[in-house]
Amino acid sequence: MAHVIVQEAEELLDKEFPVLDHGFVRLVDYLGGDARIVQSARVSYGPGTKSVRDDTKLINYLMKHGHTSPFEQVVLTFHVKMPIFVARQWARHRTARTNEISGRYSVLSNEMYTPGRLPIQSTDNKQGSSDESVSPEESEMLMEGIRRQHDMQYELYQRMLDKGVSREIARTILPLALYTEMYWQIDLHNLFNFLRQRLDNHAQYEIRQYAETISKIVKAVAPIAWEAFEEHVLYARTLSRSELEAPQPE
Ligand SMILES: Cc1cc2nc3c(=O)[nH]c(=O)nc-3n(C[C@H](O)[C@H](O)[C@H](O)COP(=O)(O)OP(=O)(O)OC[C@H]3O[C@@H](n4cnc5c(N)ncnc54)[C@H](O)[C@@H]3O)c2cc1C
Repeated sequence: MAHVIVQEAEELLDKEFPVLDHGFVRLVDYLGGDARIVQSARVSYGPGTKSVRDDTKLINYLMKHGHTSPFEQVVLTFHVKMPIFVARQWARHRTARTNEISGRYSVLSNEMYTPGRLPIQSTDNKQGSSDESVSPEESEMLMEGIRRQHDMQYELYQRMLDKGVSREIARTILPLALYTEMYWQIDLHNLFNFLRQRLDNHAQYEIRQYAETISKIVKAVAPIAWEAFEEHVLYARTLSRSELEAPQPE
């Protein structure tokens, strides 16, 4: 059995999972699952490796000991729609293959992200937000301003197109809140790396929402690998040398 079909993943194919106010994640295709990880690992370990014969044990062994290559044999392709500021964070994951909508070729839609709340800058995390939000009165005023600004920017974009300005120049006035779309293909090892970083609460709330949705899809495609990832990576912690050498309480 070489070609791997995972029934749970088949049922997710082509379904749009909504994220944020206009975004979504859709599983376009997958190549392999837990069975492929095991098949490819057996090439290196051989069928006679009795101690790691059980599939779940083998996958956990690979994950725990950082034998990452068999996880690279599983590949997922997503269609994702997200605001441009999320896409910029996403694009830092260089081991994926991406094809994004072209604002030079297409007229971009009037879809912009409006945050659900306006959090206050965190004082302990210079990149992040605190749990507190601005007052309801301030929030109402600022939200109104955001919506007005988005409308004005899109109107100007439209006006430029109407006057014959090229799409590649007209789009330059659109904000980071504008939604973009891309096909995103990545192997499971690097997808776990993406999820480890983007499920963490240091990652921005908005990209975390996408990571949460993708996690559910990964769980369907490779449930044993997902559990091993949770066990040995996502909820595991490493200790530094000094932490290990620190005196333990009696
Ligand atoms: C909370 C948070 C805050 C961040 N803040 C910033 C920021 O302020 N500014 C900023 O620029 N980025 C920022 N990043 C992005 C971060 O620095 C990483 O670039 C990004 O998360 C991708 O991680 P990665 O390199 O592990 O993944 P990938 O790019 O998928 O790489 C996976 C592995 O392949 C290796 N690799 C990939 N491409 C190459 C290459 N060309 N040469 C050598 N090795 C390669 C990587 O070293 C890594 O080991 C932030 C990320 C997070 C999660």
